[in-house]
Order: sequence, then structure tokens, then C-alpha cells
Amino acid sequence: MTVEEEKQIVNNVTDARARIAEAARKAGRKPEDIILVAATKMNDAERVRAAVRAGIDVCGENRVQELLGKYEEHAYDGCPLHFIGTLQSNKVKYLMGKVSMIESVSSVKLATVIAKEAKKAGLCQNILLEINIGREEAKLGLDPDEVFEAVQTISRMDNICIRGLMAIPPKLDESRKDTYYFDRMHQLFVDISDKKYDNVFMDYLSMGMSADFEAAISCGANIVRLGTTIFGARHY
Ligand SMILES: *Cc1c(COP(=O)(O)O)cnc(C)c1O
Repeated sequence: MTVEEEKQIVNNVTDARARIAEAARKAGRKPEDIILVAATKMNDAERVRAAVRAGIDVCGENRVQELLGKYEEHAYDGCPLHFIGTLQSNKVKYLMGKVSMIESVSSVKLATVIAKEAKKAGLCQNILLEINIGREEAKLGLDPDEVFEAVQTISRMDNICIRGLMAIPPKLDESRKDTYYFDRMHQLFVDISDKKYDNVFMDYLSMGMSADFEAAISCGANIVRLGTTIFGARHY
């Protein structure tokens, strides 16, 4: 990484913070209540460390293999780490003790495995439930209609704690308001809160990425996950 590249990341974080703050104020909320997760996929340890130094709140990683490699390289030192990608049951054990939150819990079955592995590791794992808010075939996540039952089932498990909801909404066409799915997520978030289930805490609503985080904040998001805004375009 060159000095220029590091400067770019610092500037990007500063700009992202300013935009988050503005969106928060417009929504009558406090800028410091919005958690900035840097989505670090495809970015090496050095670039991740630069983002941490620049003052992001959390690193968000998508792939277990990539996470373990960068973890070894101390990429995330001094910064909380969230898992935000598709998670296979047989890889859950590798995350125990490394991630403060698994944001992408897309089924009761996966929650069961996390609870089991967390128990083995002697800890309590915080999770968010990923909602397939657009009911898309190709996407993982709980159906909005299934979520109430899933919340109750998972809330009775030991060693796992539901802390909120996460979503990656569909791309919108012109016919819908740009907050259509974010509004639906917020409503679900409020509805689950209102049920006051034991051992369920609706603390976090994770939605909004580079293209739409301001709209997400206007609808109550308090975690936004930014990749390209922080690191520039990914080169696959
Ligand atoms: C990559 C990724 C992001 C960030 O995407 P950008 O559009 O680059 O901001 C957010 N959330 C998840 C789950 C991701 O995989």
C-alpha cells in the first residue's frame, strides 16, 4: 500500500463519517449512534489496518477463510469484528472468540449450530437475524413471516443472544420509493421489539451499503456496512 492509498482511505472514512452524520441529523438522530462497519472483503491486512487507524467502528468480513488469514496478520487488532457473509455450519467453530457479532444468521438451523459451538467455547455469541426482506429466491435469510417464530425458538437457546436484524434488500426499480424495503425492515424491527420476548434485544438494525446508506439511516438503521465507499472499487 502506498502513502497515497492510505491517505485515500483516511479521506474516504472522513467523508463517510460526514455523510453519516448529516443523514443522522436529518433523521433527528445522533451521529455517534450510527455504527460504521467497514466491509473489508478483498482488502488485505494492510488496507484493513489503515481503515482501523482512520477510525471505523467495526470490521465486517464475509468469508471465514479470508477472516482467519487476516486475523493471523493482526488486521483487526484494536477493532471489533463482525461476520457479515454467508456462513456454512461446519465453519462456525472457527469464528468463536473472534467475532463480537455474527450479523448474517439466516436460519434457525444455523443458530442452533452457533449456540452449540458457543457453548463448547464457553461464551455467549451475539447475533443479528438476516431477513430476506424482498423474498428473493437467490438470497439467504428468514422470510419476514417466519421471523417471529424463529426469534422465539432461538431466544430459548443458551449461549446465543439475538441483538437485532440485518438485511441486504433487493435493487429497487422506479416503481418503489427508495426506502421501501428499509421501511419494511424498520417496521419488523419495531414489531419484534414490541413483543418484548425474553432474551431478545432489538438493539441493532443493520442495513445500508455504499449505494444507499443515507436512505437506510433515515429509516432507522444504526449499523451501516460500507465497502467501496471506504476502500474504493473492488477488483475481482
Ligand atoms: C460487500 C458487502 C457490503 C458493502 O458493499 P458496498 O456496496 O461495497 O458498500 C455490505 N454488506 C455485505 C454483507 C457485503 O457483503
